[in-house]
Amino acid sequence: MIHVRAPGRVNIIAEHTDYTDGFVLPMAIDLGVEITGEPSDERSLIVTSREEASTIELSTDADPRGDGSWRDYFAGVVRALRESGEVVPGARIEIRSSLPIGAGLSSSAALLVGTLYLLHELQGRTIDRTALARLAQRAEFLGTGARTGIMDQFVIANGRAGRAVLLDCRSLEETLVRLPSSASFLVVDSGVRHSVATSEYNVRRQECEAAAAALGVAALRDAGDGDRAKIEGLEEPLRSRALHVVQENERVLAASRAFEDADLALAGRLMSASHRSLRDLYEVSVPELDEIVDVAERTPGVHGARMTGAGFGGCVVVLIDAQRAGSVREHLLSSLRKRRGVDLRSWNVRASDGVEVIA
Ligand code: ADP
Ligand code: MG
Repeated sequence: MIHVRAPGRVNIIAEHTDYTDGFVLPMAIDLGVEITGEPSDERSLIVTSREEASTIELSTDADPRGDGSWRDYFAGVVRALRESGEVVPGARIEIRSSLPIGAGLSSSAALLVGTLYLLHELQGRTIDRTALARLAQRAEFLGTGARTGIMDQFVIANGRAGRAVLLDCRSLEETLVRLPSSASFLVVDSGVRHSVATSEYNVRRQECEAAAAALGVAALRDAGDGDRAKIEGLEEPLRSRALHVVQENERVLAASRAFEDADLALAGRLMSASHRSLRDLYEVSVPELDEIVDVAERTPGVHGARMTGAGFGGCVVVLIDAQRAGSVREHLLSSLRKRRGVDLRSWNVRASDGVEVIA
């Protein structure tokens, strides 16, 4: 019996920079999925999920059904392993998760990285963590058709307690960024999920490709200071999209330095600037996210706040002075309760280790 824990993740700053070969600054968090497994003689994966309250059985040559069910993530696992010439071992697997599902904390990537890690451990094989991240990304695509970036899987594989992961999405070179103990992070779920999220995500990707082509660069990551005039000359919405990506990359690097310097006021300002850019230039925010950010920014003890995830709903991440974390959370939630008439879900999260075997 092997027991694995895979964390969820929150992106501290950098949205929509990953697929333009840029930089991101996520951290693995102390909410995650726990996966227990044992080898079985049957040529199948038998998987029980506490959250889905069901058990599925997949043969080791199963294909996805495309019905949007959680089974397809495991069909993706099977396919990704087969495609890379690896053995798909028979196993019994049990899952339970402390991550909210579908809230943007990457329960899906945690599930896939954790499962693939476990299946390797069950065979006594080690897998390089970057290869693991790529395999999980491939599994999500093969199982569900979702074209995700590599960020989530990478930080879930490579996270470190007390550190954020500055990742260059082109080279996959990582730099661990020390988060000062004075920094506390609160994640607030807007409770909103818009179905346009996937289609708009694909549109934004295409716009970024079109903007890069118009600028004559391989990806927007390559657009530098010298391209500012050219960006200003692009037609809308390409101009706004490119401007967001270029400036967001600069903000990520500046925020990484600010955290290392324990300059939380600056890190917070950069996070709030990121939100405004996502709202006004990239146009992926919604009023409910803007409202949480506005209320957070007016709460004493808050350094900055921004939507996190691809947008059109999901969560806000708030950077708070650690000494005031408790009172800020109460104050913020009660202000939002007065406006909305409902309690929003929220979590104080800490930077944690990446996927690992636990006792
Ligand atoms: P997010 O990754 O932001 O949480 P997604 O929509 O990408 O949201 O992934 C959520 C899906 O992942 C769920 O609908 C389910 O299919 C699968 N999933 C996540 N956690 C679990 C779990 N504990 N058990 C079974 N399936 C899960
Ligand atoms: Mg997901």
